[in-house]
Amino acid sequence: MSSEPGPEKLFALDVMLGKLAKWLRVLGFDARVKNLSDPGDVPLLVSSGFIPVTRREKLMQTRGVVFIENDRAFAQLKEIISKLGLYKSSPRMFSRCTVCNAALNAISKEDAFGGVPDFVFETATDFRKCPECSRIYWAGTHRKRMLERIESITEWKQETEGRNDGGE
Ligand SMILES: [Zn+2]
Repeated sequence: MSSEPGPEKLFALDVMLGKLAKWLRVLGFDARVKNLSDPGDVPLLVSSGFIPVTRREKLMQTRGVVFIENDRAFAQLKEIISKLGLYKSSPRMFSRCTVCNAALNAISKEDAFGGVPDFVFETATDFRKCPECSRIYWAGTHRKRMLERIESITEWKQETEGRNDGGE
């Protein structure tokens, strides 16, 4: 059995774990929210490459499922990082929309004009836009705070270079 973590993990978060899904997206993981109320759906998810994550006790012993014990989202993040050894992954932080899970596209500062508050436009760098909901993300104080929390439980450091691939 290979324990080598793949570069792309596909998470299927149960409906009660929406906040954890957002945190995983902040880290750059593909984190979808699925209703795992039917245990019969789980084997197909696993064979399709998903890692189902749930707090349902009836799925506790199901093969391939990550059972989460903690109540609070950040503790859950810490738990899943520890259980799956995600420390070894090198996720691309802040590369996904936390709302839709879509991969963000780097955009120029000019393209961010009008889409972000004025003070952000003046001071921020590294603008990225969601192709689904058009939300614009940038490197700023909010991201810095999230990063500090993430760094408190991992050894990841922020990738500072912006990718300039302009989208699909
Ligand atoms: Zn979005």
